Amino acid sequence: MTRNEKKQRRIRQLKIRVISTLLIFCLVIVAGGCALIEKNKESKKVVRVNGGVVEKTKNVADNSENTSTETKEETSKTEEKTTKDNKRVIDPNKPMIALTFDDGPGERTLELLETLEKYNVRASFFMCGTSLSRNDIKVEEILKKMDELGCDMGNHTMDHQSLPTLSSQKIKWEVEGVNDLIKKHVGHGAKFVRPPYGAGIRDKKVSKYVKAPMVCWSVDTLDWKTKSKKETIRSVMNDAHDGDIVLMHDIHGWTVDAVKKIIPKLLKKGYQLVTVSEMAEAKGCKLENGKPYFEF
Ligand SMILES: [Zn+2]
Repeated sequence: MTRNEKKQRRIRQLKIRVISTLLIFCLVIVAGGCALIEKNKESKKVVRVNGGVVEKTKNVADNSENTSTETKEETSKTEEKTTKDNKRVIDPNKPMIALTFDDGPGERTLELLETLEKYNVRASFFMCGTSLSRNDIKVEEILKKMDELGCDMGNHTMDHQSLPTLSSQKIKWEVEGVNDLIKKHVGHGAKFVRPPYGAGIRDKKVSKYVKAPMVCWSVDTLDWKTKSKKETIRSVMNDAHDGDIVLMHDIHGWTVDAVKKIIPKLLKKGYQLVTVSEMAEAKGCKLENGKPYFEF
């Protein structure tokens, strides 16, 4: 190969290298652009809220609640309304959640009711005969407050036994006993029954003697098990959505502490916090005696 030919070859190789580098550079730019467009598409998530479409920008990769920029419609909802005659106004077109509390009343139920009142929200309480018979808490004051606020008062039986294992007579006693205890303080019995452990809701004998709609739950916070304020908050904030009935226990201090955080968080997300009866009415569901309900 002559010297000139060698020079020519070097120039050709150099040209090839320059062109390849330029091609790679262009490819990187195009790929980067595509990835950016995809990311934008993904981060726009359309959330359907009861027929009305609310668009909110949300970073899908990051689940922390602070990343969502809610629309005006959502943030404007900081408290609920009542009419002049104290009847609460529930908007059936907006999402709602029913917080429910079992096994009470307890030491901090009154405090919990005051929290509900502060935010003008309501909840449902499924109470046990053993708790309603306690002398170390102000049962009368608690029940009157519950009734005055318009919270649902539910029956969780006299001594928390699995109803299908009992005789018809005993089931009757378990239910009627609680109704009598509530009636003694507020002049009327419970609206609903929540059989302990949700046991026997399909049992013919149980549904015959319960003689009230059986309100179960769709979100179980397991607050009794985790014994944690943080975990209870996490469970509700992650799992509860429109139409859900959330199960908690007002006999636990960590639950009362959690609810104080949960209420403003759910309100900020645009939820109405309603009783089970308010939710059934708003969702157009007529509750029947002896039938189980899990969500609306
Ligand atoms: Zn229970």
